[in-house]
Amino acid sequence: MSETQNKGCSGNCGSCSQSCSDRKTQSLIEPTAEFNNIKHVIGIVSGKGGVGKSMVTSMLAVLLQRKGYKVGILDADITGPSIPKTFGVTDRALQNAIGILPAETKTGIKVMSINLMLEENDSPVVWRGPVIAGAVKQFWHDTIWGDLDYLLIDCPPGTGDVPLTVFQSIPLDGTVIVTSPQDLVSLIVKKAYNMAQLMKIPVYGIVENMSYVVCPDCGKSFNIFGSGSESIAEELGIPLLGKMPIDVSLAQMVDNGEFERFECDYLVSAAEKIIENTNS
Ligand code: ADP
Repeated sequence: MSETQNKGCSGNCGSCSQSCSDRKTQSLIEPTAEFNNIKHVIGIVSGKGGVGKSMVTSMLAVLLQRKGYKVGILDADITGPSIPKTFGVTDRALQNAIGILPAETKTGIKVMSINLMLEENDSPVVWRGPVIAGAVKQFWHDTIWGDLDYLLIDCPPGTGDVPLTVFQSIPLDGTVIVTSPQDLVSLIVKKAYNMAQLMKIPVYGIVENMSYVVCPDCGKSFNIFGSGSESIAEELGIPLLGKMPIDVSLAQMVDNGEFERFECDYLVSAAEKIIENTNS
């Protein structure tokens, strides 16, 4: 036992609530299957739902793929899965003796989501936390991802049971926090940030979604929800990776399952920052 460990330490951090400096937070990390070769895993998180986490995940995936990387998305938002719809993926995930085959989008991004396993797209997932968490772990472990440069995880919102499982059991290189610019949401950003800190996972920065809206008639920008992300990023000492306006054309592409057609460059620098962080 080292000097910093508490008396009576059994060495089993998984069943201990103490936060001593020797705590082995990595101990619950699960490896993915041996047939997978995933270079980097990035968690896209938000303190609450509805801020555009799935949209940001999808956009970053497409941008990384356009830069020539092999990309997958693990939709860990089990009770609100939206990745298949965004990309117009309707194939069911097939299971064989080795594992689960992910679906592929039109441009070849691999996708795993609970919606690919449900009989009906609109069936609710009425499962308790541990079962949901188990499904996420299974998507990580049993999916035949193959060779990937980046696996983006669309994390469940908040700081509850399931996001905790993602943080504890999947070896994340880092996280990106998505927020909208309201004060209330900014408060919740701090919770997401503190959770990552607690788990010793680097936070690459914040993406502010729904930052502004551009009037189609006069071209003027309006910050309808105010602007708070600069100050919160500064306070937390992390970069503001990008800002995305409310863009009706993006919402339409999501609704039509044609998201890969977008041409905007709102998050190009955020994608570059991820590449920079993972290659440093
Ligand atoms: P979350 O994953 O945080 O719950 P979503 O990404 O599913 O949020 O976004 C919620 C809804 O808002 C979706 O219908 C999505 O298409 C829409 N949306 C998100 N961001 C934008 C944006 N910047 N412009 C237009 N619509 C957006």
